[in-house]
Amino acid sequence: MSIKSLIRTIPDYPKKGIMFRDITTLFSDADGLRDVIDGFAAEYQDKNIDVIAGIEARGFVIGPAVAVALGIGFVTVRKKGKLPAETISVEYDLEYGSDVIEIHKDSIKPGQRVLIMDDLIATGGTALGAIDLVEKAGGDVAGCAFIIDLPDLGGAQKIRDRGVDEFHLVEFE
Ligand code: IMP
Repeated sequence: MSIKSLIRTIPDYPKKGIMFRDITTLFSDADGLRDVIDGFAAEYQDKNIDVIAGIEARGFVIGPAVAVALGIGFVTVRKKGKLPAETISVEYDLEYGSDVIEIHKDSIKPGQRVLIMDDLIATGGTALGAIDLVEKAGGDVAGCAFIIDLPDLGGAQKIRDRGVDEFHLVEFE
């Protein structure tokens, strides 16, 4: 089965009117999971990425597997208050309100080429926050990669407008 057909859609979750794209059904399928990791590894194998920064929580599922495939390390971008050592924080916009994400101050070395990964890009607020965070930490954002883009919500375009390379495996209108 294709990656797209392995993603389950849950209507009205977490609230009425939202079509939630559930990737747990993709991750639990051996071929689907391998196709996802192979797809990212093929895209980035020649792009001189130094480290992958995965966004909590679903970026933690794909990021380390792709990092192993590329022979590089993995860094966690976490919600506020979860990291034990000294952190850098940024506040980013959500559809309603804002949130804070953090990274360890010493996790990225100056000038390292960082690939940011998450499962899905919608409005782009989370990914733009992660770009700010990686740049604040001294990294050079080499790209942002997602399994799913929801193009109608405009986030991928905002990433490209920011001058950052954007890549995704599937789209849902
Ligand atoms: P954005 O900040 O509006 O681009 O939303 C992206 C963030 O919300 C990502 O961290 C996603 O994991 C999460 N998200 C939003 N919609 C969905 C969905 O339909 N399925 C899974 N995650 C979602």
